[in-house]
Amino acid sequence: MRDFSHHRRSRAPRLLLLLLGLAGFALLAVGGLRTGPAPRIEIVPDGPAIGRRTPLTVVVEEPVRGLGGITVELVQGERRYPLASERFTPRAVWAPWAERTPRIELSLAAGRELQGDLAAGEATVRVTAERAPAWFRQPPAAVAEVTLPVRLTPPALQLLSTQTYVAQGGCEAVVYRTGPTAAHSGVVAGAWFFPGYPLPGGEPGERFALFAAPYDLDNPEAIRLVASDEVGNEARVAFVDRFTPRRVPTGEIRLDDRFLAKVVPEILAATPALTDRGEPLANYLAINRELRAANATELTALAARSREEFLWREPFLALPGGKVMSPFAERRRYLYAGREVDEQVHLGYDLASVRRAPVPAANRGVVLLARYLGIYGNTVVVDHGYGLMSLYSHLSAIAVDEGETIERGAILGTTGETGLAGGDHLHFSFLLAGLPVDPVEWWDPAWIRNRIGRKLGAALPAG
Ligand SMILES: [Zn+2]
Repeated sequence: MRDFSHHRRSRAPRLLLLLLGLAGFALLAVGGLRTGPAPRIEIVPDGPAIGRRTPLTVVVEEPVRGLGGITVELVQGERRYPLASERFTPRAVWAPWAERTPRIELSLAAGRELQGDLAAGEATVRVTAERAPAWFRQPPAAVAEVTLPVRLTPPALQLLSTQTYVAQGGCEAVVYRTGPTAAHSGVVAGAWFFPGYPLPGGEPGERFALFAAPYDLDNPEAIRLVASDEVGNEARVAFVDRFTPRRVPTGEIRLDDRFLAKVVPEILAATPALTDRGEPLANYLAINRELRAANATELTALAARSREEFLWREPFLALPGGKVMSPFAERRRYLYAGREVDEQVHLGYDLASVRRAPVPAANRGVVLLARYLGIYGNTVVVDHGYGLMSLYSHLSAIAVDEGETIERGAILGTTGETGLAGGDHLHFSFLLAGLPVDPVEWWDPAWIRNRIGRKLGAALPAG
């Protein structure tokens, strides 16, 4: 019995040892040899090639034990350019509760501006992601590569039209030809861009742009014809032969309590986005500054909806019998109780004839907007195609619907004094790609013939 019991006592520790040994062996086998799975690597270049500065997104994922070290480099022949290097601590095999980094997304860029001696040809984006190690073993890293062409030559850009004479605040046209790699082209004028369009009836690559010299741009060097490819290589051509600066007209608006009491409540009621500041002058200034700027942004956004066709056939009409009350782009000082309270540029013409005068469309087009629009009150905007639009505001009544095609001279509504207007008049603006321009040129058949028609030839339909 004693023997037996002794035997039994001595067998238990042996079994325990065996179990411990087995557990240790299993732990060694798992922890010692088991590495993390290979991370998943994704390389997404923003374009078909590497150019001046091409954005690049790299995503690396390993949700089990998390990421280790990651390096991204651009390789061209013998040259290796580091793009990114990150280190993480993967979760240890015996600590499944530990912190880890399961995913990383890197926003990088590669190109001639960043890697100065990068040459045209090909280059490879290489991503190396280390795997979580075992105790005894560091597995080989996961590697992914994407090879891309390197393009550093700007598209061909050739000027075809001559005699570009533009006045500050006015418009002009240019005809040009781009090479096959051009993806975007048009005219840059300071902060504004006027897109180019295929020349109707022209050869492949022949394009034209209507552009303007913004009313507040006095340096013609800031006007350039540009063409760029999908990877940011850009050709620029100076093409303005004559630039006529303008004298900035100035004016004064005297604000009084009667005027504020007339315009402020109406605009506040019609503009839910505007908060009541509780005081007429404060409300007026919010309207004159914030709402004016918001309305300008809204009008610029409309340009994206302009048709790519000449909707007009004849010169533009002015308001018949309309007396010009103020010139284009007048710099206005606003005075209240003898004190200057604001300054704004008035970006249109104010025309007066008789009260409740019918307002004819300046030309054939499509009604893009027909509703109350902030400082402009009841407003109609007519699209004439290729970014050219006319705007009629302060109307007492609107007689057309959005989407309607209207003929030259069609009655759009009647003049009035809605919005920021002291008395019955028509505020008329002309817009190109959203920029207010001087309409006086478009009222002049000789100007249209010489500046636009002569360049576009048969591309401009005649009435
Ligand atoms: Zn006006």
